[in-house]
Amino acid sequence: MLIEEEKIKNKKEKGIPYGVAGIETKDMSSWRALKPIIDYSKCIKCLTCWFSCPDFAFEVNKEGFPKVRSKNCKGCGICAEHCPVKCIKMLRDFHDKK
Ligand code: SF4
Ligand code: SF4
Repeated sequence: MLIEEEKIKNKKEKGIPYGVAGIETKDMSSWRALKPIIDYSKCIKCLTCWFSCPDFAFEVNKEGFPKVRSKNCKGCGICAEHCPVKCIKMLRDFHDKK
C-alpha cells in the first residue's frame, strides 16, 4: 500500500527505516488468542521486537520505547521470543473493550 510521505510517522527518527513505521495493515486483533505486554522497567530499547514483528505492529514513541499497535497484532509471539531481556509476555487476550 502506498502512503503519502507527509503521513509517515517517526520518519528519520532513531534509525527507523523510511516508511515502515507509518504502514497500516489489516485489523487482525479480533482472532488472536494472546497479546504481547511489555514490561517497560526492563526494556533496553533495542527495538528487536519492532524489527522482528512480521506485521509492523510496533510504533516507537519519542522516548524510544516500542508500543504495540493492538489492531495490527495477530498474537504470534515472535516479538516475545526474540526480546533479548524477555520483557515481553504473551498474555491471554479476552478482547474486553477497556
Ligand atoms: S525487544 Fe524487548 S528490550 Fe528490546 S525494545 Fe523490544 S521490548 Fe524492549
Ligand atoms: S505478537 Fe506477533 S504480531 Fe503481535 S507484536 Fe508481537 S511479533 Fe508482532
